[in-house]
Amino acid sequence: MSGVMETDAKQLLNHSLESLTWVGRQRAVLLHKLDLWTVGDLLFGFPRDYQDISDERVIAQLDEGELQSVRAVVAEVSSAGGRFGKGRVSILVGDESGHLRATWFNQPFMQSKFEVGQLLLLTAKPKMRGMMWEMSHPQVVWLGSEEATEEPRKLLPVYSLTEGISQYHMRRMAANVVEEFGNVPEEVFSEALLAKYHLLPIHEALRAIHLPEDQESLALARRRFIFQELFILQLAVSIRRVQQQKTLSPALPVSAKINARIQRLLPFELTESQDKVVREVLADMALDRPMNRLLQGDVGSGKTIVALYAILVAVAHGHQAALMVPTEILARQHAETLAELLKASRVRFAVLAGGTSKRERTEILEKLAAGELDVIIGTHAIIQESVRFKNLALVVVDEQHKFGVKQRAALRQDDHSPHYLVMTATPIPRTLTMTLFGDLDISSLRELPVGRQPVNTYLVDPEKQEAWWCFVRDRLREGRQAFVVAPLIDESETVVAPSVSQAFEQLTNGELEAFRIGLLHGRMSPAEKQQAMDDFRSGETQVLVSTSVIEVGVDVPNASVMAVSGGERFGLAQLHQLRGRVGRGGHPGYCGVLIGEVSEKGRERLQAFADSTDGFALAELDFKLRGPGDLFSTQQHGLPPLYLADLQRDRDVLEEARREAQLLVAADPGLIHEAHLKLRRQMLVRYGKALNLGDVG
Ligand code: ADP
Ligand code: MG
Repeated sequence: MSGVMETDAKQLLNHSLESLTWVGRQRAVLLHKLDLWTVGDLLFGFPRDYQDISDERVIAQLDEGELQSVRAVVAEVSSAGGRFGKGRVSILVGDESGHLRATWFNQPFMQSKFEVGQLLLLTAKPKMRGMMWEMSHPQVVWLGSEEATEEPRKLLPVYSLTEGISQYHMRRMAANVVEEFGNVPEEVFSEALLAKYHLLPIHEALRAIHLPEDQESLALARRRFIFQELFILQLAVSIRRVQQQKTLSPALPVSAKINARIQRLLPFELTESQDKVVREVLADMALDRPMNRLLQGDVGSGKTIVALYAILVAVAHGHQAALMVPTEILARQHAETLAELLKASRVRFAVLAGGTSKRERTEILEKLAAGELDVIIGTHAIIQESVRFKNLALVVVDEQHKFGVKQRAALRQDDHSPHYLVMTATPIPRTLTMTLFGDLDISSLRELPVGRQPVNTYLVDPEKQEAWWCFVRDRLREGRQAFVVAPLIDESETVVAPSVSQAFEQLTNGELEAFRIGLLHGRMSPAEKQQAMDDFRSGETQVLVSTSVIEVGVDVPNASVMAVSGGERFGLAQLHQLRGRVGRGGHPGYCGVLIGEVSEKGRERLQAFADSTDGFALAELDFKLRGPGDLFSTQQHGLPPLYLADLQRDRDVLEEARREAQLLVAADPGLIHEAHLKLRRQMLVRYGKALNLGDVG
């Protein structure tokens, strides 16, 4: 029965827009430009905004600063071109009580939309300018002849438009589609679930999102669809998790003997936190289900040793392990740490990166395939097609935020999956871990190794710079070393080198001329980079001037000073990463953020950074202030964008959706129950490809 109904509903929603008399062929063609093809597209093509005209007044009665609307006639249209074409379009409108000016900046096309004599409904927060009321970038409704002058609604939907379709037409069509088809879509949620989370049923929600009675009903409607969007996402993530748990991995239990052998190799006692995390990791690896664990630990919390522990366990079982890192510098550094640790053992390992010669690469690949290498450390070069392992059992990815969902999938093998440990020092806000990494278990290193002191952080204004460099010189004379980081002035590669070289030139011939200075940037060859790193590590150079390539992972304990020039250009999480490069040995660390001109807000942000050493708190703050940024862009994580939901703003809803999705998947892992088929279809349409869920059920 419901099967029949579902087909009917589906058919109705799939009707082409051409077939509707109130759309017509011509307008349907225009709607295609907005990617609207079917009745369903129009019904689920929600407004991008709303115009609140509940407070309508005559011009003389306007109040400053509140959202208000006026109904007035255009008396004059003018435009003023500025330099660089940054024009200003301005209209003068009037009603029986007075006049008001409305202006638009940088939108020259607005001019053609107005004519003297038109009746407009304008909404904005008015300001008194001189003797005249002004509205800047108001929302506009053209109350044309075809339209009743009395708008019954107090909250008007605003749709995305295309040339040839007016807002008025769009509203009419949306209202029509709601009238005619608004009751067609079938509810995907059970009564119980709707009640539990106070969600509007689908038909009410569709009506309210297109034709809201007031702000409250609009908020309710939006919440229902946000819940749905996040629920579908969480379903996908949960199902992926279940699928992963179905695949097999080699079980690598740790005997007391293996444990003792590894412990003997470690150069220091593990902290309590490290010990706990190691135990979590080993417990996962002991099972024949793949470990999928995210290890979050602030910079300097000692994640490397946890990774090496896990790697040694795999090797002790005669399996191979891979350690993947975002930069070649980091690959070589890890290799050195490993070499030091394994001085007295027979573990065979190699580094594979962009700078590896062709001959060397061929040799490494052969050995990996033949099982003659136990550990491979490298950049994304190690996940290329041509790389074959004999018996890969563990993959560790350091600094996960640099890798996306797709790469993670690429490392999987057909018959069995390696255990998988991801490490990140860029603390990922909880809302994001739940979403992007919702299929991972999470371990956290919350404590720094003993003796570690917080890095003293200063904001250095231009007039304080001399004093700052004087301070740096003192530290260098004491035998310490310093990093100087200069920003990329432009994304394009060509200007990277000059900006850093400039800083290098200036310091060499100025503030730090008495010291040995090295240079490191992305345009250098891998060999040159390695040399620069080696020189700094050995103390050959006392100062390393670099781009932010040293941001991740670099560990030179004798370096105690970090200077970041152009500090205002960096995100807080990134500054925190950079700061984490110092204060690692027994010496107190110092970080100077050299700033140029910053806004009030920019300074507040940087001050928050100087005042806090809690990487997690800073990441949350950065996330709030700047949004997820490109670290978590769609491109990076490989998931389709969300339409209505905002992971930061809607985190409460996200929690609820996640909980319910997990319950549902636990009860019906393939979503094959009749009542779940519609959800299953929505999930597959949206995430099937991105998350490789083709074979659900
Ligand atoms: P991150 O978590 O940033 O990758 P690392 O693994 O590079 O941190 O460790 C930072 C520094 O702390 C390294 O020099 C490392 O040798 C040292 N370290 C890590 N764990 C301990 C420990 N338990 N006791 C003493 N020093 C430690
Ligand atoms: Mg690290």
